[in-house]
Amino acid sequence: MTDDAGNATRRVNPFGEGVGYVRIKLSNLMQRAQDARYDRATRVEFACLAECNRDGHAQFERDELANILGKMHNGQWAPASRSRVSDAIATAKARGGIGPESTTRCLVAPAGAVSQGRGDRGCRVHNFRSNGTVRPDCSGETEQSVPD
Ligand SMILES: [Zn+2]
Repeated sequence: MTDDAGNATRRVNPFGEGVGYVRIKLSNLMQRAQDARYDRATRVEFACLAECNRDGHAQFERDELANILGKMHNGQWAPASRSRVSDAIATAKARGGIGPESTTRCLVAPAGAVSQGRGDRGCRVHNFRSNGTVRPDCSGETEQSVPD
């Protein structure tokens, strides 16, 4: 590879020398997250990867994940129920597709699985800044999975 000036450059492997990785189009991952042909736990994992920030946290507004995990019903998009969202998160956690600290408001990428996510750092849901300090301006709101 060369830079704009024609100088030879070398792409740095974010995972370390010899570790394979790919670049994935994020919009494709989100399309899969919304694709009802996949089971919801897999869709949760796609949504996490599509939206995770530089610290591996994918934050969602209230009911946003339910909308992503919905399906067409009588010609209209119907959000997934809270219990289906919770079940999907629990399954994804159990198989290691998302971190155990994941909630309906923030899906956390598995440790070591993601490097160089996009956007901001830290997490308002898990109440931390990237340097490990707790955000003083955050209520620490967390939403746990809803039991059936
Ligand atoms: Zn988070």
